[in-house]
Amino acid sequence: MMKAVKLYEPGNLQVEEVNVPTISPTEVLIEVKVIGICGSDIPRALTKGAYSQGLTLGHEFSGQIVECGSEAAEWSVGDRVTIAPLEPCMKCVYCKQGKYGLCDDYNYYGSRTDGAMANYIKVGKANILKLDDSISYDAGAMVDPAANAVHGLWRGKLQKGETAVVIGLGAIGMFAVQFAREMGAKEVIAIDIFDEKLEIANKLGADRTVNSRTEDVIEVLADTHIDFVIDTSGSAIAQDQAVRITGKMGRVVFLGISNQPLTLSAKTVDRLLRYEIEINGSWNSFSDPFPGKEWTYVIDSMANGKINTEEIISHRYSIEETPAVFEKIKNKEIVFSKILLYPGDVL
Ligand SMILES: [Zn+2]
Ligand SMILES: [Zn+2]
Repeated sequence: MMKAVKLYEPGNLQVEEVNVPTISPTEVLIEVKVIGICGSDIPRALTKGAYSQGLTLGHEFSGQIVECGSEAAEWSVGDRVTIAPLEPCMKCVYCKQGKYGLCDDYNYYGSRTDGAMANYIKVGKANILKLDDSISYDAGAMVDPAANAVHGLWRGKLQKGETAVVIGLGAIGMFAVQFAREMGAKEVIAIDIFDEKLEIANKLGADRTVNSRTEDVIEVLADTHIDFVIDTSGSAIAQDQAVRITGKMGRVVFLGISNQPLTLSAKTVDRLLRYEIEINGSWNSFSDPFPGKEWTYVIDSMANGKINTEEIISHRYSIEETPAVFEKIKNKEIVFSKILLYPGDVL
């Protein structure tokens, strides 16, 4: 038996004793070491509810292989791993172009099939990625949000020598700041409404920070030529500002999910046209070959010590505390970036 965090209707999370999953020949069984709470887990747990009742949540994690199916010989017991949570159909028109994130008929760990908030998870062999020994399990659980940041930077074609702005400093935004630097941005400007987060962004290599609650973003950046802006906040105000601060021929990327209508001010629309600004959507983190170059780039960068994950972790809890943690999030009792959960001892 093992523990698993099960989601029923919105807000109803239960830690239950369930059977350890049985693997098929093409799957491996992973002992979960660390799970991250993703921004997408929050509406899933609190407002949308489970895709199917009693689903185990969690798709950002690291662990160690404890059993391999007979047709998964490329993996070994003891391998330290993370996974790409999407299982694309490999048949639709988008999969055939290698655009797996756009798949018409996909499966997803922790949202459509049982996820990682448990002692063990079974995963298809094509979804597994090996972690170098130099990557901690904590960092391994954050490869997914880092890959999302990289995908967003690539969607907006960030180039060496450009000035880049990152709006919203959740985990994806914090990774975007670091990867923008890695990709050769001349200047990285970070924007958020919390000074605590702006201080962390400074430590992670942001050249300038702007508190959009206390400062007028448009005024402060009026004399700065900005080539690239990525919004990870999903706030409609920030989305309008993103376009409004972008320079001639600049690119804007909307990555944060808003679930809100967006009104662009008259001045913003004027600028969009006159400056020939490009707006791109960014969804998830996948490319060809599956799961994608985003994932290998992140793992290589972490292995080479180029990416700081420790500063992004704000809280650590055991998985038993998961329902209480979501309650705190719901009641806005904590300001957080990445929250990590531990099925065993808190590392
Ligand atoms: Zn996620
Ligand atoms: Zn597909």
